[in-house]
Amino acid sequence: MITYPDQKYFYMACEKCFSGAGADYDYQYTCVACKAFTHAKPKEKMHLNILDGSGPLDVKVFGKHATELTQMSASRCMKLYNEGAPLLLDTINQSLSGKSFIMKIRKRERYMEDSMQYQYVVLNMLERKSLLLNPSPTCPWQMTPNLLKISTHHF
Ligand SMILES: [Zn+2]
Repeated sequence: MITYPDQKYFYMACEKCFSGAGADYDYQYTCVACKAFTHAKPKEKMHLNILDGSGPLDVKVFGKHATELTQMSASRCMKLYNEGAPLLLDTINQSLSGKSFIMKIRKRERYMEDSMQYQYVVLNMLERKSLLLNPSPTCPWQMTPNLLKISTHHF
């Protein structure tokens, strides 16, 4: 479920590599990450709190997976936000209610403010329903040791 209320559901990103941009919409700039001279475009991003048998975890969801959860593209989210009508938590939480997902999550380490901060990013996700329709004895993604697999219940 969504517990962080003041989110925009998008960020300004490099058109080429999706690194965060310190530029306004459609502004041309040189991306620090990929060095491309590019435009700043909105890209989907959301904070989500997921729950499995071991407890809750705050994760970030980007791109098409965020769209699957909000049913909105980043451009639409930006338009609503600029109009002062951001997406409503209750609406999204209601649509997530009772749904269960299998998620592939990457743990990111960042040294910030003299301490190690951990961030969890959803790389891939699949609603459980579709797994049941297509039962497979193996995980749909190749697992590597640095990846955690978390399934969520009871949003
Ligand atoms: Zn870039």
